Amino acid sequence: MLTGIVGINWGDEGKGRMVDLLSDRYDVVCRYQGGNNAGHTVVNDKGKFVLNLLPSGILRSGTVNVMGPGMVIDLKHLYGEIARLKEKGVDISPENLKISDKATICMPYHVLLDCLEEDRLADKKFGSTRRGIAPVYADKYMKKTLRMGDLMHFETMKSRLADIIEWKNLMVAGGYKAEPIKLEDMVDWLETYALPFKDYVCDTTEYLEQAVKEGKSIMFEAQLGALRDIDFGIYPYTSSSSTIAAYATIGAGIPERKLDEVIGIMKAYSTCVGEGPFTCEMFGDEAEALRQAGGEYGAATGRPRRVGGFDVVASRYGITVQGATSIALTKLDVLSYMKKIPVCVAYEVDGKKTDKFPHGTDLDNAKPVYEYLDGWCSDISGARKFSDLPENARKYVGYIEKATGAKIKYVSVGADRDSYIEMY
Ligand code: GDP
Ligand code: MG
Repeated sequence: MLTGIVGINWGDEGKGRMVDLLSDRYDVVCRYQGGNNAGHTVVNDKGKFVLNLLPSGILRSGTVNVMGPGMVIDLKHLYGEIARLKEKGVDISPENLKISDKATICMPYHVLLDCLEEDRLADKKFGSTRRGIAPVYADKYMKKTLRMGDLMHFETMKSRLADIIEWKNLMVAGGYKAEPIKLEDMVDWLETYALPFKDYVCDTTEYLEQAVKEGKSIMFEAQLGALRDIDFGIYPYTSSSSTIAAYATIGAGIPERKLDEVIGIMKAYSTCVGEGPFTCEMFGDEAEALRQAGGEYGAATGRPRRVGGFDVVASRYGITVQGATSIALTKLDVLSYMKKIPVCVAYEVDGKKTDKFPHGTDLDNAKPVYEYLDGWCSDISGARKFSDLPENARKYVGYIEKATGAKIKYVSVGADRDSYIEMY
């Protein structure tokens, strides 16, 4: 079984939590895109973990984790992430972590360029996480990056790096007038943070293809949601990678295979980190109450997340581009304090009501059309069967299912591993 677990919305839907829950059904968990620009929070019997780069299966013994060719990896960050997990007793070795020889290395100068550009943009900034992701993907397509496999030929790698740095300094020193990047510093960095990973590097295509042939089940874990996809998201306020399920097997290393199943993770309300259009956004006290109730602060950056009611228009679009075959609806319990629950049922663009998700300037100009559903005003975190939920909570789930055309398979009512309802 090849299963994709992907975000339907703007990210932070609770993908890490669902992957952690479902990962015992899989032999292998793969990350296929992105870098350390987002975070998954997983709470289990070992404690609370924030994973930025590592696949969530790393927290289960016996699960093999793959970081695929579609990823961009800041090795210093990975080094720190692994050290923090090891402190809490998580076992990580080349046996359970395999890094693609084709994955791109995110260097300190990518982080630097991300910061220089955001600072230059000032109040026109993109709201980048400043982790170097856009610069490193840009360099990948310019064919001027180092890949994990280059570690096997460190001397050759160093001479390529010298050429790259000469080119980079045209921009860093020439353009931004910043301190030029020094080759020795970058070589030191690679020696300290990259070489320790040499034994983890392998051909993930070969590994995964063999795993498929042996009948192993494989999960593909997305970071960020559909609306952050470089092609289909809210461009230019997207990430720089393909976050959608159709890219999963490519980014993991087995482009010759197709997913059997796509589980879309969809939040019972909306959140968005950073700049860009967010039509269903709530403001003031109403927003603060929801942010508090949902603990909506970024896992990677600690930034307060923008919040809003469930967005039917955006979610239906997300379900479509992901090709979701089933849905996990998360954080339903967060809405328990509301007497009336706001749902954004349509957009108004240029005075016309629409249920189609717009792009570009039309999206910037879209206004939300809100309807209100009755709340249930009671604690639902103990519900384990659909029938345990109060009537209004069941109605809310039914409403979302109908409005989006989603097939809701799981309803999550808490952050803990077993706080969920399996619908069928
Ligand atoms: P991800 O990036 O999609 O993995 O999501 P994040 O980890 O950034 O944000 C989701 C947050 O909500 C985490 O702190 C989770 O522990 C928490 N969470 C996930 N599912 C639920 C749920 O059903 N109820 C509540 N109350 N919290 C949840
Ligand atoms: Mg997140």
